[in-house]
Amino acid sequence: MSAEIELAAGSVALVGAGPGAADLLTLRAWRCLQQADVVLHDLLVSPEVLAHVPARATCIAVGKAGGRHSWAQKDICALMVEKARAGCRVVRLKGGDPFIFGRGGEEMDALLAEGIPVQVVPGITAAVGAAAGLGFPLTHRDHAHSCVFVTGHLQHDGLALNWGTLAQPRQTVVIYMGMTGVTTIARELLAAGQSGDMPVAIVRYATRPEQEVVVTTLSELPGTVASRALLPPALLVIGTVVRLLAQPAERRAD
Ligand code: SAH
Repeated sequence: MSAEIELAAGSVALVGAGPGAADLLTLRAWRCLQQADVVLHDLLVSPEVLAHVPARATCIAVGKAGGRHSWAQKDICALMVEKARAGCRVVRLKGGDPFIFGRGGEEMDALLAEGIPVQVVPGITAAVGAAAGLGFPLTHRDHAHSCVFVTGHLQHDGLALNWGTLAQPRQTVVIYMGMTGVTTIARELLAAGQSGDMPVAIVRYATRPEQEVVVTTLSELPGTVASRALLPPALLVIGTVVRLLAQPAERRAD
C-alpha cells in the first residue's frame, strides 16, 4: 500500500470503524489499526472490529456508557494529545464514519490546535450499512429524490429540527440517536403534515449478529418502541423505501 497512508509516530488517525461487521472496514482503516500503538475506541465499535487490533497495541475504551458520558470529550482529546506527544501512533476508532455525528470534527480541531498531525479515514456510516444489509436503497428512484441524515438527540441544547423540511414527500429521513426522542419525533412530524401511515424501520445493531429490525408506522412509532422495549443504538428510517425492506422475498425473486 502507498506510503501516504502510513501512520507516523506522534500522529493520530481518526478512523471510521463502520457499522459493525469487521469486513466492512476499509483497507486503510485496517492498515492503520495494524500500525497503531494506542487505540482509543468508542463503545459503539463492535467486538468483531476490535478483534483486528493487534495484541501489542494498548486498547482504551472511551465514550458513553449507559447513556452517560463516562469520558468527557476534553479528556479524550487530552489523552490523544498526550499519547501522540509521547511518540505513539494513535488510532481514534469511531463507530461508522468519524464525520457523521461522530464528533470527529471537534477532535480533529483539538489535535490540530496542539500541532498534532491528523489524518481521517472514512467509514461506512450506520445508515449506509443498514440500507445495504437490509436491501432498501435510500434513494430508490420510485420512492425518494433525497435522503437526509438527522440527529435525534433532542435533549441537546438548542437543537431545533426543521420538521417541515423533514416531512417533505419523496424523501428518506434517517435519524441517528433518535430512540429517546421517538415521542417528540412522531408528534412533530405528524404536526408538520407527515402521514401517520408512513413506514418507519427501527434498525438496531445494523450489520452485527445481534441486529434487530422492526417495521412500524409513524403514528405507532412511540408505542412500538415502548412495547418492544427497543434501546439504542438504533436508527430510525422514515420513508416509503422501508416498504422494500418488508418484501425481501419478492424483491429477490425479481
Ligand atoms: N459516526 C456514527 C454515528 C455516531 S452517532 C456513524 O457514522 O454511523 C451514534 C448513533 O449512530 C446511534 O445512536 C445510532 O443511532 C447510530 N448507529 C451507529 N451504529 C449503528 C448500528 N450498527 N446500527 C444502528 N444504529 C447505529
